[in-house]
Amino acid sequence: MKIKNWYSDKKPWIITGPCSAETEDQLLDTVTQLVDNGFDTIRAGVWKPRTRPNSFEGVGEIAFPWIKKAKEKFPHIQFAIEVASAEHVELALKNDIDILWVGARTTVNPFNVQEIADAVRGVEDKPILIKNPINPDLALWMGALERFDAVGIKKLGAIHRGFSTYQESIYRNIPLWQIPIELKSNFPDLLLINDPSHIAGKRELLFEIAQKAMDLQYDGLIIESHRSPNEAWSDAAQQLTPKALKEMLDSIKIREKSF
Ligand code: PEP
Ligand code: MN
Repeated sequence: MKIKNWYSDKKPWIITGPCSAETEDQLLDTVTQLVDNGFDTIRAGVWKPRTRPNSFEGVGEIAFPWIKKAKEKFPHIQFAIEVASAEHVELALKNDIDILWVGARTTVNPFNVQEIADAVRGVEDKPILIKNPINPDLALWMGALERFDAVGIKKLGAIHRGFSTYQESIYRNIPLWQIPIELKSNFPDLLLINDPSHIAGKRELLFEIAQKAMDLQYDGLIIESHRSPNEAWSDAAQQLTPKALKEMLDSIKIREKSF
């Protein structure tokens, strides 16, 4: 296994942006506010894997010109989107998307993961982040990372976004911190990012989850931020305005990373 932590900055890597790209205005305005608050790695879902049909499934390809405009306005920013098929990868690469992530509903399916891994063969320097599968199965998460490692991806990372449960819980997805900890013990050099938004499901819990991730010395956080969270077309209850996000992160105690 060659999995190495390629993120050398001492500061945690913060990836933030709306759950979904909705309109050109929403995306550009949100990105502008994020940049104003010091953020430079932006996320936005273009295709949204929804559990039930008839909910918003993402705007699709029309978001690429909006992303291009945002990057023309702020040339230093990087953009991350979710990919769930070879076709998504092809479009993302064609449109110069900087970072790709594999969503929790995709990591569960080895055929699907292999298809995406085959599609990124040859772009070894593209950062690829793999969310944990929705079910608490460490081997599936490791297997997905191994499939990307096997095609030569050098900038791999894992995103811990919590796990589905049928039990009553304050969390939308229970964190089960022992699973990412065990993942790290298998791949000590792996870049590990926490996703408080999808663990929490509601704004009120974001701080404690993000603080815990920092206490455990995660390398970074991916957190959803929207210019008007309550009006978001997906995941409205868990998003923060860029300003509120900055304030929340400023109140987190960050220990210097030791790995
Ligand atoms: C998301 O990041 O908006 C998303 C759909 O996440 P997950 O795959 O963790 O459910
Ligand atoms: Mn979301």
